[in-house]
Amino acid sequence: MNKYYFDHSATTRVDERVVQAMAQAMHKTYGNPSSVHGFGREARVLLEESRETIARLINADPAELFFTSGGTEADNTALLGIMKANRDRGDHLVTSKIEHHAVLDAAKYLENNGYRVSYISPDAYGMIQPEEVSRAITPGTVLVSIMHVNNEIGTINPLGEIGRICRQKGALLHSDAVQSFGKLPLDVQAANLDLISISAHKIYGPKGVGALYVRRGVKLEKRTFGGHQEREFRTGTENLPGAAGFAQAAQICHDKMDSETQRLTDLRERLWTGLNSKLPDIHLNGHPTERLPGINNISFAGIEGEALLLSLDLKGIAASTGSACSSGQVNASHVLLAMGINPEIAQGSIRFSLGRENDDESVDYALEIVPQIVENLRAMAFNG
Ligand SMILES: *Cc1c(COP(=O)(O)O)cnc(C)c1O
Repeated sequence: MNKYYFDHSATTRVDERVVQAMAQAMHKTYGNPSSVHGFGREARVLLEESRETIARLINADPAELFFTSGGTEADNTALLGIMKANRDRGDHLVTSKIEHHAVLDAAKYLENNGYRVSYISPDAYGMIQPEEVSRAITPGTVLVSIMHVNNEIGTINPLGEIGRICRQKGALLHSDAVQSFGKLPLDVQAANLDLISISAHKIYGPKGVGALYVRRGVKLEKRTFGGHQEREFRTGTENLPGAAGFAQAAQICHDKMDSETQRLTDLRERLWTGLNSKLPDIHLNGHPTERLPGINNISFAGIEGEALLLSLDLKGIAASTGSACSSGQVNASHVLLAMGINPEIAQGSIRFSLGRENDDESVDYALEIVPQIVENLRAMAFNG
């Protein structure tokens, strides 16, 4: 049986060229970037070139970019590091109900430790409206954290406008850009972003490496101790193979961004219109147009998302309920609930996230198999 991967928002297959770059970094450029000898200097050059590559792609200065162990650590560091370092400015954080748990759980930790947090609701498309951000900011607001693209539904938030509001009101702006980096243009200057989190494994790079951009002059509290690496913000010997692989993956994504956007938008639309014409009572979640190329989050009335996923897996189709953290649990998605979707419908929702593994053939196969399975599950539910 052929296997078809529709879960690119969970993770991706590492690009062969990235594997090569990482193998070189592990086997040839194996010095410690902190060592003064030639091996160390060579490793340092590769590390700084990798940093420059990524910084250039978001219009940042390389000195403003810190490598981390991934998106989760970058999100945690942004929230805790900013709130703690700027306690003299206030104790209030503004974020949204649809953030990734790397942000939501860090916000919860802050709340349990004496900070105040406001959670903005999205509109019915899962979009955070700039006016809502404006309303939530108070004189004690230190930081606003709003994700660029939501990982479950793909809706793109209006960061430019949100950035203007934050700048005007004197609040810092962080954005979890893990789902957008490498797929959509992202310019930290144009959008007035003070911090962003990015990750390699969502863009055909290795797992366990990401980065946090921190605008020059923004105060961030240190969270690791014991060395001088990453300007002491993130101590410990640097993950050089990870950084080199991340840079290579990011550059490749950037170079083919326009054509891949077009290709994935076409595939996404063909999948949705095809399913919608074959099946009654299905609904597309998220914004119809302001949406990441490649993401279709679909509710199938009358069935359980988990049951559908298992049946699809038996037929070689890998999809997801949206959030890796909540799979295995029967709880409905916090994102869909925040959008006002009723819990029963939310439970019958599946995310198909398309990427390089997908082509016309995989979409044809999904268009043949998904309706069969949905009809079977609905008939079983009806008879049972
Ligand atoms: C995957 C993801 C993360 C976590 O990134 P890791 O590198 O896996 O830690 C954070 N935010 C969003 C939106 C994500 O999709």
